[in-house]
Amino acid sequence: QPRRILRALLSVSDKSGLVDFARALVAHQVELLSTGGTKKALAEAGLPVRDVSDLTGFPEMMDGRVKTLHPKVHGGLLAIRDNADHVAAMSAHGIVPIDLLVVDLYPFEATVAKGAGYDDCIENIDIGGPAMVRAAAKNHGDVAVVVDTADYAVVLAEMAANAGATTLPLRKRLAAKAYARTAAYDAAISGWFAQTLGDPTPDYWALGGKRIQTMRYGENPHQVAAFYRSPEVRFGVATARQVQGKQLSYNNINDTDAAFECVAEFDPARTAACAIIKHANPCGVAEAETLVEAYRKALMCDQDSAFGGIVAVNRVLDAEAARMITGIFTEVIIAPDATEEAIEIVRAKKNLRLMLAGGLPDPRAPGLTMRTVAGGFLMQSRDNAVVDDFEFKVVTRRAPTEAELADLKFAFRVAKHVKSNAVIYAKDRATVGIGAGQMSRVDSAAIAVRKAEAAARFFELPEPLTKGSVVASDAFYPFPDALLVSIRAGATAVVQPGGSIRDDEVIKAADDHDVAMVLTGYRHFRH
Ligand code: 5GP
Repeated sequence: QPRRILRALLSVSDKSGLVDFARALVAHQVELLSTGGTKKALAEAGLPVRDVSDLTGFPEMMDGRVKTLHPKVHGGLLAIRDNADHVAAMSAHGIVPIDLLVVDLYPFEATVAKGAGYDDCIENIDIGGPAMVRAAAKNHGDVAVVVDTADYAVVLAEMAANAGATTLPLRKRLAAKAYARTAAYDAAISGWFAQTLGDPTPDYWALGGKRIQTMRYGENPHQVAAFYRSPEVRFGVATARQVQGKQLSYNNINDTDAAFECVAEFDPARTAACAIIKHANPCGVAEAETLVEAYRKALMCDQDSAFGGIVAVNRVLDAEAARMITGIFTEVIIAPDATEEAIEIVRAKKNLRLMLAGGLPDPRAPGLTMRTVAGGFLMQSRDNAVVDDFEFKVVTRRAPTEAELADLKFAFRVAKHVKSNAVIYAKDRATVGIGAGQMSRVDSAAIAVRKAEAAARFFELPEPLTKGSVVASDAFYPFPDALLVSIRAGATAVVQPGGSIRDDEVIKAADDHDVAMVLTGYRHFRH
């Protein structure tokens, strides 16, 4: 089953590494065939190369839409070498075998990512490339197919070890990758179409992505895991540059994403903000004039949980903030960017990962989130509802004061990023108690108070900061009970979506205690 490579067809958009690879092929006596641009690059490097048009007897036409779509190409890729019928058909029609196909598809994903217009995107849908890739991969018994420049070296190593031949196991691996590549490519195209059509839940959903990291394990050590970047165009953990530190684990990536998405709710032009995350839930979030002040306030919410946390900031990480954050054991810092001085400070902590994303995720961006269920998956649009776009409707006798309203907005912003049931207490635009992930809203309301009591003991405050705080609930109050827990703890104002059949009872409970209540009409379940 080793197959000597005697003839190769190269047709690549990304020409990096091409000439060196082709030169090595020529050294193995491989005959080169190529399409226009690729041929030009090879010829300029002085390599002997034949034009595909020469083989097919057809010129490239229609802006390159038709270059290699020809039986002489596809016959050469698909013919089974030890099938007498196939061999007879080859000689009857003057078809020569092609033993190696090297294709890098038109850069459709990159064209979309740079914001190109409709026609430009359409023209960057490669037709002949995927057709050849699929043909060569089907015929992997005889043909090797390369769709990734990383495999140039792999193929050359095998050829060197096998007198110019490739082995079947390698050809199978290359074929598997080839189909994954064309599938991801078509996924990107259909995803783009779905978006331009405003049809986020089409009949078929294809998911594409490129592996950017293989982890030692997944959420637990007995699970395998890898990290994939999708063609989606957003700043985020998948596109961030790791400046330093250990490799991120599965859980780190999940938490870093939660942290960065949370802090992106805060417009950096309006305020500095910081979020500290543990197990995908915030254990402290705050706004302030500066990042260091925001971090200090966030830390006061739940100093214990912040140990080993993941920190996100919404502005360029500066030296002061870096100094304070690195004062506590932290797993990851993610920021849009960092000053040189801040990077130097973080460098002192060898293991601490610093991720710079180049920008903030857009909280209003459309897009989809996916979750798997046994035998299928659920797709939904992102929760891209943003507090600034809500109308806060006062439903109590007392309206919130200006300070209360600012805190209510702050708290509801955070509520979106806390697992349900979520109850968040805030004061001076900092969380002072977070109740997350409970099956009962009453428990979430009470746990947050307990956290605030613990913080008061730790920082030797005269009373828990929940006294005189405001409270946010991610979903409506089905009964007044959870609200009463918050009122007893000293909350003076509350924000919630509203919409319960017992809203009246809940509003009355607030009025009875002179508590101001506003409704958003938006729920932020997050499970
Ligand atoms: P070149 O730079 O060599 O002119 O073009 C290389 C690109 O053309 C590769 O991305 C390859 O996948 C693509 N390609 C090869 N054959 C065809 C074809 O018949 N139609 C289209 N649309 N693209 C092709």
